[in-house]
Amino acid sequence: MNEMVLGLVLKQSEYRENDALLTVLTEEYGKLTFVARGVKKMTSKSSIACMPYVISEFCFDYLEDKSMFTIKNASLKVSNRHIQEDLEKMNIASVLCELVDKSLPSGVDDEINHSLYELLSFCLEKLNIEKQHQLVLSLFLAQMCIHLGVPPVVDECVLCGSTKVHRISIEEGGFVCSECLNECENINNFQMDLKRFRLINKANIEHYELLKGYGPWTFTDCQTMIEFLRVHSGLDSASWQFLKKLVEE
Ligand SMILES: [Zn+2]
Repeated sequence: MNEMVLGLVLKQSEYRENDALLTVLTEEYGKLTFVARGVKKMTSKSSIACMPYVISEFCFDYLEDKSMFTIKNASLKVSNRHIQEDLEKMNIASVLCELVDKSLPSGVDDEINHSLYELLSFCLEKLNIEKQHQLVLSLFLAQMCIHLGVPPVVDECVLCGSTKVHRISIEEGGFVCSECLNECENINNFQMDLKRFRLINKANIEHYELLKGYGPWTFTDCQTMIEFLRVHSGLDSASWQFLKKLVEE
């Protein structure tokens, strides 16, 4: 039976000569692997619909005990085409998609699929049309901490509860006061502005426009958030290492 599903292409990997494997996030079926036949041929009609970071409608036969399907037809819905035209945008999109891919097992259908689909399509849309890349990435990372159940403590000192907060301790899991600071062994030397750290971790995607007013958001902000996510969820991003080299140059 032909199923039609809207899916966001997280990545495209090498497969057979003219074919590719697509990792696609859908709301209905979670994360799926599609075989896209002939997509690497110059004459392929569906190659654009199978590119990373696009949203397309895929037609395939769904079988409950399978996690890999052959695409019968793919039609492009949202191209996010400016991402492919800008190296920085492309690298950020790659971080977003890599982290979503790594945080989801294949084919699980539950609430997290819906919320990650919503989060990722929102962030890619903003990344595509706007210039505040660092805000998009910081907000995405803060939302990932929430989805994975490891949000930082941003209302008080994580160790004693004092509201006179002084620094961010990634290791301890949020704000620390000046007294507890002495007990912290590893304080990272890149420090995000405390107010921005609190705001981004309190916000959700509806607050995007509001957050613009608290910038400029920086790659140090992104680094603080990605480090927090890595320490507390174990999720690491190879794409972030590329991005870091790119922006440091
Ligand atoms: Zn304290």
